[in-house]
Amino acid sequence: MQTSTQNKTNLEVPKKFVYYFAAGEAEGNATMKNVLGGKGANLAEMTSIGLNVPPGFTISTDICAHFYAEGGKLPDWVKPSVLEALTKMEAKIGKKFGDVENPLLVSVRSGARASMPGMMDTILNLGLNDQTVEGLAKSSNNPRFAWDSYRRFIQMYSDVVLEMNSSLLEVTLEDLKAEKGVHNDTELTAEDLKSLVKKFKALVQQMTGKSFPNDPLEQLWGAVSAVFRSWNTPRAITYRELHDIPADWGTAVNVQSMVFGNLGEDSATGVAFTRNPSTGERKFYGEFLVNAQGEDVVAGIRTPQPISLLKEVMPQAYKELEDNYFKLENYFKDMQDIEFTIERNKLWMLQTRNGKRTAKAALQIACDMIDEKMITEEEAILRIDPASLDQLLHPTLDPQAQKTILAKGLPASPGGVCGQVVFTPEDAVELKEKGQKVILVRVETSPEDIAGMVAAQGILTSRGGMTSHAAVVARGMGKCCVAGCSEVEVNYTNETFKAKGYVIKKGDIITLDGSTGEIYLGEVKTIEPKLDGAFSRLMAIADRVRRLKVRANADTPTDAKTARDFGAEGIGLCRTEHMFFGEDRIDAVREMIIAETSNEREKALVKLLPMQREDFYQLFKIMDGFPVTIRLLDPPLHEFVPHSDSEIAELAKRINYDENRLKHKIHSLHEFNPMLGHRGCRLAITYPEIYQMQARAIAEAAAQFVKEGKKLVPEIMIPLVATAKELEILREQTVAVVEQVQKEQNVKYDYQVGTMIELPRAAVTAHEIARHADFFSFGTNDLTQTTLGLSRDDSSRFLGSYVSHGILPKDPFVSIDQIGVGTLVKTGVDLGRQAKGNLKIGVCGEHGGDPSSIQFFENVNLDYVSCSPYRVPIARLAAARSKLQRSH
Ligand code: PEP
Ligand code: MG
Repeated sequence: MQTSTQNKTNLEVPKKFVYYFAAGEAEGNATMKNVLGGKGANLAEMTSIGLNVPPGFTISTDICAHFYAEGGKLPDWVKPSVLEALTKMEAKIGKKFGDVENPLLVSVRSGARASMPGMMDTILNLGLNDQTVEGLAKSSNNPRFAWDSYRRFIQMYSDVVLEMNSSLLEVTLEDLKAEKGVHNDTELTAEDLKSLVKKFKALVQQMTGKSFPNDPLEQLWGAVSAVFRSWNTPRAITYRELHDIPADWGTAVNVQSMVFGNLGEDSATGVAFTRNPSTGERKFYGEFLVNAQGEDVVAGIRTPQPISLLKEVMPQAYKELEDNYFKLENYFKDMQDIEFTIERNKLWMLQTRNGKRTAKAALQIACDMIDEKMITEEEAILRIDPASLDQLLHPTLDPQAQKTILAKGLPASPGGVCGQVVFTPEDAVELKEKGQKVILVRVETSPEDIAGMVAAQGILTSRGGMTSHAAVVARGMGKCCVAGCSEVEVNYTNETFKAKGYVIKKGDIITLDGSTGEIYLGEVKTIEPKLDGAFSRLMAIADRVRRLKVRANADTPTDAKTARDFGAEGIGLCRTEHMFFGEDRIDAVREMIIAETSNEREKALVKLLPMQREDFYQLFKIMDGFPVTIRLLDPPLHEFVPHSDSEIAELAKRINYDENRLKHKIHSLHEFNPMLGHRGCRLAITYPEIYQMQARAIAEAAAQFVKEGKKLVPEIMIPLVATAKELEILREQTVAVVEQVQKEQNVKYDYQVGTMIELPRAAVTAHEIARHADFFSFGTNDLTQTTLGLSRDDSSRFLGSYVSHGILPKDPFVSIDQIGVGTLVKTGVDLGRQAKGNLKIGVCGEHGGDPSSIQFFENVNLDYVSCSPYRVPIARLAAARSKLQRSH
């Protein structure tokens, strides 16, 4: 019976929080991930669909919140339900927990809603003590196995539950091996292991001041608590932040009867993917180890064998495994990542989950599954995480480049990267902060290394397989990784590694090819990726599904070309100021800025006019009829002038200007709050000649383009408008210039004059502004800055802690603050369209390339999003998903 006692905190006690599963009976199912975590939900489901799953139960994620509410203590009211499930398990299996003759041993594992590989803790062989170990020795008829299980349990428990320094026990084990003159753990005898257990227990007593718990129930409560505690370890927190997993989800705890892959040569353990997680190829893919426990495979301590060999070693179990994977794929309609154990030739399924994969594999698998009629085209779109496409857009090594190969390991996660070698995650983080590129080299990685893995360009390990921690985590991050490179001899003490006679020191440059597993000396040239058939096919489906148009923010012909190649349907923002920094023109810009009369200003502008005209013409040409939105000058003028005395002196000489006068002029441009100062349309209200020159350059470029027989509707955009009157004045002046040019050139074409909505006042008076605008484009960068009163240049220093304190769900400059800034966007859209029903509205702030912001822009009926060229494919896919997931 489940208790419903009132808890001493305000959290409500759930009616049910322990879910039992055993052959033929499962209280949970795959849809209950929120309650049972991914692992627990799928264990229940596998049990229900008839696969062999060791019996057990899941303590729900709700209890994690209660655990923390009670100050990191398992509430007493949880225990009776756990004991009740344990009793059911005992009856099912015919073994008793703590029984000295034939003891039931359990594993205790974490399992959150979203999979967090290796981030949280696991304890195996729980239930062993000085008495039950003898029972296990007898019942398994294998004393060596029993003592080995016991010493493993003490090691794990001391590390995870007692939080002892795990290397102490590890060193004791190594010392014993040295004393016995053996290399492998497997060469230690039962007697050796027995003496090891004794030493371990003495160490525990010495380090913790308490004896190792002998009572299996005490062990169980300790382990369950430790798993809940592991939800909040620094590495789990880093992983959650990286993957946007909310802190309040919590983890579930799975307690399951142990099965053993280390009972001898007829036992094994392994992990496998139903398709290749790197390439997507439809082929069973995985690794196993004979006579081993699961942790040996995942931890990458022994190098495992490919799954294809299992067919030869244990044909019966392999056949069943293959049947299971077909069943699981068909049931979950997705590629599965499974863990299994074979105990004395009997196959047990320990876990299944949707497998993590590279973006390349995700696209291939989605396309194959459409062809296999397993999923629809729309489902395929929903399968691909738009942000993951980033991985495909990264460079690979140039096959033509000269290379000196150092070693070859496993191609764990694709991409070509180079950087300085570092051996510790701390060094990786430190150098990354200094703007350096680093390759993290480790014997193997563990979850503690996560921050270093994030900081590194790529990861190289000398041990571990394709499913080792390094490989799985790097793939999830889309980070290049070469794993299990045994030719590399790492020496942490000297911070060097040896390979092919070379000695590579910390700070030396190497290059990794994560697609072949090769490692090269020095820097190797990289090339841009070519996108394959699956990419184009899914993009075509996305384009068919989506409503939002996708444009790019592009200021140069190169950007514009990249944007077109990635499928942009126009330019949503050309920041003309970026064109002002060219070496051939910056001095003319400066002359324009320091001009004291309109006449002087116009003289400088005349120099700029032909250059701007050519800039715009090139963009029109590349965009070939797609819309091009050109924003007139926006930043404060002081951004264009030099500030040091020597630079000012040089400029004075170049433009033949009095140095002191120039200094004085430049200092007079100083503003205390330039972002709220004399910038945007305010510049044009005081110096109308600047926008007039730009409008003329656009109009003349368009005239030339149209005269060549091509179609174009240029869009001229006025930034930082706060009042309708500003736009009214500037529109009138712009229109006058364009009409004048059309008359001079005797050509007629349509054009539009619109504005950015990037100030709160503009958003809430959008109905007035709309009267003078042909289009709106939301500048959500400035709108975020001005709505939250957060400087876009300075706030990154503390925004991280705002997010980790849960004050803001995400950095609002990355993902739109929907209830704040978003409400202004929605208001602006509604008011704007009330005044002008057909008003075209887009967004060109950074949020235009962020998938969750795109969902918001879809929901409020924008016409287009505009983002940086490399994000265009991401935006196309995100737009399609947003349409499919639209809530109304
Ligand atoms: C914006 O403010 O969102 C915008 C696109 O303009 P900029 O980033 O150039 O200020
Ligand atoms: Mg802006």
